[in-house]
Amino acid sequence: MTQTKTSRVEQKDAVNLLYSNSGMGLVISVFAASVLVFSFPSSAAIQSIKYAWWGLICVTALLRFMDLIYFFSSARHQDSFAHGRARARFAAGALFTGSLWSAYAVFTVLMWQASWAEIAVTCIVIAAFSGGSVSLLSAGRRLSIVYSVILTLPLAIVLLISPNEDYFGILGLLSLAFCIVMGLGANNAGRFTSRAIHLKHQNDHLLSHMEQEVNKRTQEIYSLSNIDPLTGLYNRKAFAENLSYRLSTQPNTRLAVLFIDLDGFKTINDTLGHKAGDQVIKEAGQRIKQVTQDKDLLCRWGGDEFLLTINQSDTLLNNAQEIIDLIALPYVVDGSKLSIGATIGVAYYPQHGNDHERLIQRADMAMYNQKRAEKGRVGVFDESLRDQLMREIRLRDHLENAVHRHELSLVYQPIVDSTTGQIASVEALLRWTLDDERIPPDEFIAIAEQYGFIRSIGIWVLGEACLAGKRMQAHHQDLGMCVNVSIQQLLDNDFPNEVAAVLKRTGFAPNKLDLEITESLFAHDKRRMINNIKRLKDLGIKVSIDDFGTGYSSLSVMQEFDVDYVKIDRSFVWSMDTGGKAIVEAVSQIATAFDYKVIAEGVETDEQRQLLTSMGIDYLQGYWFLPPVQEQQLIEHLPSIKPN
Ligand code: C2E
Ligand code: CA
Ligand code: CA
Repeated sequence: MTQTKTSRVEQKDAVNLLYSNSGMGLVISVFAASVLVFSFPSSAAIQSIKYAWWGLICVTALLRFMDLIYFFSSARHQDSFAHGRARARFAAGALFTGSLWSAYAVFTVLMWQASWAEIAVTCIVIAAFSGGSVSLLSAGRRLSIVYSVILTLPLAIVLLISPNEDYFGILGLLSLAFCIVMGLGANNAGRFTSRAIHLKHQNDHLLSHMEQEVNKRTQEIYSLSNIDPLTGLYNRKAFAENLSYRLSTQPNTRLAVLFIDLDGFKTINDTLGHKAGDQVIKEAGQRIKQVTQDKDLLCRWGGDEFLLTINQSDTLLNNAQEIIDLIALPYVVDGSKLSIGATIGVAYYPQHGNDHERLIQRADMAMYNQKRAEKGRVGVFDESLRDQLMREIRLRDHLENAVHRHELSLVYQPIVDSTTGQIASVEALLRWTLDDERIPPDEFIAIAEQYGFIRSIGIWVLGEACLAGKRMQAHHQDLGMCVNVSIQQLLDNDFPNEVAAVLKRTGFAPNKLDLEITESLFAHDKRRMINNIKRLKDLGIKVSIDDFGTGYSSLSVMQEFDVDYVKIDRSFVWSMDTGGKAIVEAVSQIATAFDYKVIAEGVETDEQRQLLTSMGIDYLQGYWFLPPVQEQQLIEHLPSIKPN
């Protein structure tokens, strides 16, 4: 607030104060005038002057009263109201009244041969008015001084110079002293009041400043707890709160919750660093924001995930796909062009859930499922996904203790030497029976990997397989044991030591152990994998690339990882009449060149067996020979498999 502004409001306050104090003064003025005029009889001529004076007092009081009403009724509320003029009117009214009283007092002393009683009463009234004005007019310091001087000074002078009575001199001196005291008093009271008004305004100003500060702080705290600092969008908490509030206040709306997950973001983060990653996230958030409306809720849910709510409409899925296309446009970071994709999962309110938690969870499930099916597209939640999730949760909860509860077991499938028809080795395959249901390995192993149980399960498998291998070797001395290994196990730097410990504990010969590693796993932390594979091979263990052809590393993998076997994925074996043959041949040739042995899995027919054998594939595995069977059953087959 500027200084001039401050003083103007202060002036307004002062005028307000003057007017508010004046009502009672007017009433008393008329009352006192009536008492004086009607209580002390005088000669007819003087009495008529007194009546005239009384009339003037009444008219002035009436006019001032009307001014008072005018001031309070409307005028003072208007900003444009001229307070200066109101103040002038007030001062004129007050001074005129004061002058009338002063004149009355002077005349009483000088002309009217008034009784000492009348003079005394008049003096008392004048003193009372003067005294009262010091506080009632204190909002106008100068007015207050002039008023009390006008009232008392003329009276004091006439009393002093008038020779009529002896006590006049004393009264005069008293009046003069009174005049001086009142003048000084008015001055002090005026200063005090204007200071009080000033302080009040200063307080108001401080208060409003404080309020502004508090508001600012509140806003900052709100931002900190509700806004994602990187993107400036809502954070998780704010989104959930807002969505929940909207659903509770507008239960009849029809919303869609979009779970937007970036594809390929991790690669950018890993290869170009977090700074580049942050820039991409920020830009992606802005692109999504561009196509949303004010009422849509948008947040960064975490990492590379965004959540958006929009109204249900016929074009919703198209709009969602447009968001994906928008996100997929190139990003320029530090001068280089980057691209990422996005997959969106959609859940509808109220169809798919009544509360925000369920909606978000289902949009997430829809996204997750869509990612597995086809990235870069929009997937809508459906009930089967819900069942899938419930099942996943149930399996997860049981799997954690499956080893201790002896629910896991191993079966074995032979791998046959294609030239001799002899069983060269067996592959140990894990089985899980939960409440009489056989859970497919593909399903529970994915869960074990996702929730981190695979390391303990994997080491249990290895131990069991080695023990079984030893028992089988009693029937078939050279029998090899193939055990599947998960990525998490292989990336664990303790893994080679754990394997060594198992070998030592079981007494199984390392050169008869073959660890199968799925090809797609080689996309992970390469250096660590190469290092761990080397440590395993130093133990004398053999290593195979499993499911070969399904990943994308092919040749380079075969050169970089010093593996012993390549296991051609069964899908190629099954599609040998429609192009798979060329791939099997190519793999076989490369393998020969790099000195690997080749295994073909999934051999189901004699035709496949013959063809693969004629192509020079070293080992064969499949239902045509034997499906995975219990240990005892396999032992029974050991000497007897001779297909040629
Ligand atoms: P995989 O390593 O490729 O194992 C071969 C799978 O193909 C086995 O399925 C086997 O039963 C099946 N199979 C073998 N011959 C034929 C055939 O002629 N026709 C058909 N249709 N299928 C055949 P299974 O036992 O269901 O195992 C599935 C996958 O689970 C395995 O694929 C492997 O990746 C994983 N797995 C199994 N046991 C373990 C384990 O102990 N540890 C780890 N990490 N993964 C395991
Ligand atoms: Ca395998
Ligand atoms: Ca395989």
